[in-house]
Amino acid sequence: MTLTKKIIIYMIIGAIVGIGINYFGFNENANVEKYLTGGLFKVVGGLFLNALRMMVVPLVFVSLFCGAAALRDPSNLGKIGGKTLLFYLFTTAIALTIAISISYLINPGLGFDIPNDYPKYVAKEAPSFVNVLINMIPTNPIKAFAEGNMLQIIVFAILFGLSATMAGKSGEKLISFMQNVNEVIMKLVHIIMEFAPYAVFALIAIVFANLGASAISDLAKYFFTVLFVLFLHAFIVYPSILFIFGKINPLVFLKKIQTAVVFAFGSASSNATIPVTLRTVTQRMGVDKSVASFTIPFGATINMDGTAIMQGVATVFIAQAFGFDLTMAQLGTVVIMATLASIGTAGVPGVGLLMLAGVLAQVGLPVEAIGIILGIDRLLDMTRTAVNITGDCAVTCIVAKSEGKLNEDIFNNPDAGVIEEKHTY
Ligand code: ASP
Repeated sequence: MTLTKKIIIYMIIGAIVGIGINYFGFNENANVEKYLTGGLFKVVGGLFLNALRMMVVPLVFVSLFCGAAALRDPSNLGKIGGKTLLFYLFTTAIALTIAISISYLINPGLGFDIPNDYPKYVAKEAPSFVNVLINMIPTNPIKAFAEGNMLQIIVFAILFGLSATMAGKSGEKLISFMQNVNEVIMKLVHIIMEFAPYAVFALIAIVFANLGASAISDLAKYFFTVLFVLFLHAFIVYPSILFIFGKINPLVFLKKIQTAVVFAFGSASSNATIPVTLRTVTQRMGVDKSVASFTIPFGATINMDGTAIMQGVATVFIAQAFGFDLTMAQLGTVVIMATLASIGTAGVPGVGLLMLAGVLAQVGLPVEAIGIILGIDRLLDMTRTAVNITGDCAVTCIVAKSEGKLNEDIFNNPDAGVIEEKHTY
């Protein structure tokens, strides 16, 4: 059995266990809370998530250093960077446009009874766009590593990698050393991934155990509109874009992306999933490391189509529930704001709501109303994170193909990079 199959089976069992705990009301039992969902399951899931996060900063830095060194010419990198950014923004704008259009067909907020006692959401200050731009260059790279500031790490790694190619013999030695480090890091990622089934079981069980079924039924129209658009984007929009812009077989793509999708779903964090996403596109799909080592961490930071979809639907939902009529110009503002908002925020759980606060404020909608959808956000967060990383991989494949850096033999080989269920440690 492949690891992915095993993870999916454990995920389903986790969901059943979680729903069971919730259905029989065990989640209200203090001992279950203390020892199981808040105890054993939390430890198993938490250990695993931390192990993945542990790999993100070293992996991004080292692989991007090697990637930049392999490209050698800064202008190559500029070309890849430009194309990637353009595709990321383009797909996000499509996601928002579809989300808003479908929301106006379904009207999730019309006739919605706003509960009096919903928890009022208090928005934290989101970073301003100007500051995000200035702060792309770290004043202290060690601080950037310590804080896991992805944009800063990306910039530093690229500059450092390019400089290494210009520094003669010393540079060569460093590049070869870093390539060895990269191999070792990938090995550790592989080992960590083998523990995924148990962790995914635990993480999913916690989510379902704590999910109020009544919360979903109260917000069913909103909830299912978001899900519907997410599925549409994943199964219609990306496949079309892959085919139109890259002449890439979408069915092979969707099959190969499964492992990364399952990790993203379980962790609700594009950032924590970077090691798996990177492995998926390079080893399963045949994207050259020089492209993927840049596009994947960059995408995990700035490309969040799934999040944009939630924001589009949520904006229409809140506007309708509170009786606001949004003009065309305001809807345009939502598309632009939500696309730009994704640039400054990292792919971690729940950050989508923070970005939503900025979007709502911009068009004069009540920010505290986010509290209404807070209770059911986790499940949507998991699903949209899966869509976010699907977008990162789709754009990565298209850009790689356009640069002649997609190995089609690997892409078309169903067994390439598959992890069998046998321990390698
Ligand atoms: N959890 C999402 C991600 O990591 C971001 C969000 O929508 O909150 O991509």
